This record gives sequence, C-alpha cells and structure tokens, in this order.
Amino acid sequence: MTTAQVTSEAEELKALAEQAGRDLEDASALEILRWATETFGKKFCVTSSMEDAVVAHLASRALPGVDVVFLDTGYHFEETIGTRDAVEAVMDVNVITLTPRQTVAEQDAEFGPKLHDRNPDLCCAMRKVKPLEEGLTRYAAWATGLRRDESPTRANTPVVGWDEKRQKVKVSPIARWTQDDVDAYVAEHGVLTNPLLMDGYGSVGCAPCTRRLLEGEDARAGRWAGSGKTECGIHG
Ligand code: SF4
Repeated sequence: MTTAQVTSEAEELKALAEQAGRDLEDASALEILRWATETFGKKFCVTSSMEDAVVAHLASRALPGVDVVFLDTGYHFEETIGTRDAVEAVMDVNVITLTPRQTVAEQDAEFGPKLHDRNPDLCCAMRKVKPLEEGLTRYAAWATGLRRDESPTRANTPVVGWDEKRQKVKVSPIARWTQDDVDAYVAEHGVLTNPLLMDGYGSVGCAPCTRRLLEGEDARAGRWAGSGKTECGIHG
C-alpha cells in the first residue's frame, strides 16, 4: 500500500470516528460497542488493565469471543494477574497478554533498579506505551474504560474519537458513566473486579506506582502519588 493510500485510509477512519462520536454521544455503552463490533469486526479489541472487567463484559455481549488485550508490565499485583486469569476462564472473550521487550531483570541490568522511582515516564514508555502500540497494529479500533469523571485530563473523552498517535479509532463506551453506574453494572451482571478495589485501592496499576487511597482522595490519587504524574502515556 502506498503512503497516499495509507493517509487516505486514515483520513476516512478519522472522519468515521468523529461522526460516530457525535452520533453516539447519547447512545448506551452497549449500543456504542455494537456499532464498533459491527463496523470493525475482528479488527476491534478491548484493552483492559484488569481493574474490573466491565468493558470486556459489555463487549462480549456485542461480540462473543472479542479480543481483550492486557498489558503485563511485569510489575503487576498478584491480584491483577489473578483477575486476568479469572476473566479468561469465565468470560466469552479472547484474552491476549502483551509483554514489554525486556523483562524487569533485563531493564534493571540496562537502566539500573527501580527505574519507576527515577524516571517513571521512561519506564511507562518501555513497559506500557511501546508494547501496546505494537500490540494494536493489527486492529483498526480499540476500546478503553476511560470515564470523564475520573480526572480533569479525561473530562472531554469522546465516546468514539480518533487516536492521532496510533492512527486508530478509539472507543470509550463508558465515558459518560459515573462510579455509581460502574458499581450498578458490576452488581447486576456479577462482573469480575480486582480484589484490591475492596482493599483500599481506588485505581489499580503497577504495584510500585500504586498505593491505597487516603480518606477523601479521588479514585486515581493513589497512582504515581506525589510525583505529579497522572497518566502513563497511553491515553495522552
Ligand atoms: S506504572 Fe510504574 S512500574 Fe508500571 S510501567 Fe509505569 S513507571 Fe513502570
């Protein structure tokens, strides 16, 4: 395919995404996911951090056997890996685990131990952003569990938008949901959630960069606490 053809395909996808974002703004999460699975078929996947399996569950209703992409950074809590294994065992989804090019030991040998404490942006770039970018190449569209109420940086998340960095359609079917909506869906459908959410954590990421919440803190305050960092680079 020529560069011009690639550019024109990307422009068409971008226009499609922006139109869908407007058309589906008031649609339900399931309607948004049905649009995505009907439009992209096997070129669509869900990404999940295994904090909960809400979007994976919704997507499996729209497309049984849908690909659910999980990024194993090598730094996850055991509970997160356990949630991934449970999702794979009980849900009608195809879990795909991506790993960074280097193991933690190899990264430590090249960059020194605890890079996450000294340069979390570089650590996230190598252990999250890059492997996801490579893992998503086979897809035209991907879904995330981003919600507008999670943080100011996510307040304008479209339900369907254009991921300029990866040149892909980015679907956020629960962008308009609140935590209460998530809790209600989990209760109604018995959806798997990470046990750490019941143990004082408001959001679950890599173990070295995640702590329990203090009283009154926002859900994501326990991620990279005290560093000024709020996103890993996947969504920004
Ligand atoms: S969240 Fe922390 S440990 Fe995980 S990749 Fe980013 S800096 Fe590294």
